[in-house]
Amino acid sequence: METAYIGLGSNKGDRMENLKRAVASIGNDGWTEVVDLSPVYLTTPVGVSGHPDYYNAVIKIHTHYPVHELLDMLETIERELGRKEKGDLKPREIDIDILLYGREIIKHNRVTVPHTRLKERAFALKPLLDIEPELKCPLTGEDYSSVLKRIHTGQKLEKITGELAL
Ligand code: ADP
Ligand code: MG
Repeated sequence: METAYIGLGSNKGDRMENLKRAVASIGNDGWTEVVDLSPVYLTTPVGVSGHPDYYNAVIKIHTHYPVHELLDMLETIERELGRKEKGDLKPREIDIDILLYGREIIKHNRVTVPHTRLKERAFALKPLLDIEPELKCPLTGEDYSSVLKRIHTGQKLEKITGELAL
């Protein structure tokens, strides 16, 4: 069994409902248990302009899947929730990313953990730290809280009401 942290984002359709359905599907999978949930944040898309704001959250899971099978399961749920295209920045019903898989460092063409852009993304680091304030980067040992202080310069990151629930 491994502990992992999963980043969720939606900026198309009923965003809160999409996050809730993703969490429910992950928890109903049988091989994976959702053990903690962050608050939900309203955030401005990074790298594009004129797109709707995201709802972002992070969940903590216990999973019996090896990392590739975990990604398979998460991609199946993305498709079930209506996501069509991968690898573009278009608005999406749901984006589900593996932020951390234990303390493992994996660089594979299909999956990299820690997630390559975790340290640039306040919208992922903030909810991750809400769940696990003391967490450190497996690559450098740096506190993620220090990383967040360094990078969080004016990116919109508003906590919204309507918590995710188990
Ligand atoms: P993004 O999440 O950067 O907006 P996509 O969801 O379209 O982009 O994913 C692009 C690719 O990222 C996927 O095909 C997937 O194989 C790859 N990938 C690499 N590492 C990870 C990870 N840790 N979690 C999820 N996807 C990953
Ligand atoms: Mg993704």
